[in-house]
Amino acid sequence: QDSYKLLVLGGGTAGSAVANKFAAKLGRGNVAVVEPSKKHYYQAMFTLIGGGLKEFDMSHRPTEAILPRKCHWIEARVAGICPDDSAVSLTNGRTINYEYLVVALGMQTNYHLVKGLLDALEHDPAVCSNYHPKYVQKTFPAMQAFKEGNAIFTFPNTPIKCAGAPQKVLYLAEDYFRRTGKRDKATVMYNTPIGVVFGIKKYAQTLHDQILERDIKLNLRRNLVEVKHETREAVFEVLDAEGRTETYNYEMLHVAPPCSAPEVLWDNPLSDKSGFVDVNRETCQHTRYMNVFSLGDCSNLPTSKTAAAISGQVGVLGKNLAQVMSGKPPTGKYNGYSSCPVVTKKGFCILAEFGYDGKLMETFPYNQAVPRRSSYLMKALAMPQLYWLLLVK
Ligand code: FAD
Repeated sequence: QDSYKLLVLGGGTAGSAVANKFAAKLGRGNVAVVEPSKKHYYQAMFTLIGGGLKEFDMSHRPTEAILPRKCHWIEARVAGICPDDSAVSLTNGRTINYEYLVVALGMQTNYHLVKGLLDALEHDPAVCSNYHPKYVQKTFPAMQAFKEGNAIFTFPNTPIKCAGAPQKVLYLAEDYFRRTGKRDKATVMYNTPIGVVFGIKKYAQTLHDQILERDIKLNLRRNLVEVKHETREAVFEVLDAEGRTETYNYEMLHVAPPCSAPEVLWDNPLSDKSGFVDVNRETCQHTRYMNVFSLGDCSNLPTSKTAAAISGQVGVLGKNLAQVMSGKPPTGKYNGYSSCPVVTKKGFCILAEFGYDGKLMETFPYNQAVPRRSSYLMKALAMPQLYWLLLVK
């Protein structure tokens, strides 16, 4: 079959949620999802896996178990999108036409942009990354093997999914070193190109206090540019002093990679200048192609890129797409809701919840900026269940 009423590109968090919403509504043969991966990852769990608090096998399920039976799973990669012809080309040479399109291709991680990093990730057990299914499995062993020296945690000089995640691993490692008697031999460092620790003031204050109280060295405006794994050195450019770099030896290095929109979206009529799909920030409908919608990490919705944000977007998109399909204008409005549970140590979490323009949108009547056991239990126990049973279903 080469033509569908609804074609969904990407079967990750957002794509599966949309496919599940529409497959039952539109019936067999009308919805297809293009997704190359046989495994669906619950990426939010990577933080806990990296911290040695969950097993890797709990983070993934077969894609075929997530996508609805009534949709066609096209196991291929998107090679190009031509919205003027309502057509999508695949890397296997096929072309698929659509009446309506939902773009949910996520974000691309670009480890190759840091010189020597891929080599280090492949060959140095001390270099790890919670942003990748393979390299997340190196994080806890790197903490366990750590004896003394610098433990360095980085943030990239690009947009990133779950901007809190590079800090969660920092706090979990610091806590682990403390619990295992290694803390006084460790210099724990957080090197970030931005000038603040968190985008929302209320939570930034708590996190800043954590950094001070726990003697974490905060190096602002530092961007990782090279890893030399033979000599265990990490090179950072100092962003406010052109041409200057600083080199640190490491005993453990956790890298949050540079990220971007997926390459297939660059220079596409659907995308804005930065490569993300250009949608209306309230309706999730494309700004020019009315039969195209987008959500999740690959959209240019101006909020923090998280699965929690998708939980807010998918209902609005579902309502609006159904209205557009029946010839009505879209009336659903997304308020920018996103959430980030920042684990501050084993068993404790702050629960950041906010919407557009940094507006706080907290669920509970207590101060969510205080690290709490209840917030941790929600992250570690309730959220995985909500993800597998409700969000992607
Ligand atoms: P994805 O789920 O990444 O899906 C994109 C899909 O598109 C993938 O399946 C991919 O295979 C497919 N794809 C890519 N290119 C192509 C192509 N050319 N053709 C076809 N298919 C393609 N969120 C939270 O809410 N809370 C958290 O605590 C949290 N913690 C996180 C911690 C880490 C370490 C990471 C990495 C992420 C975390 N997130 C968290 C973010 C969350 O996982 C993402 O925001 C969410 O998964 C985005 O969903 P998506 O559908 O947009 O992209």
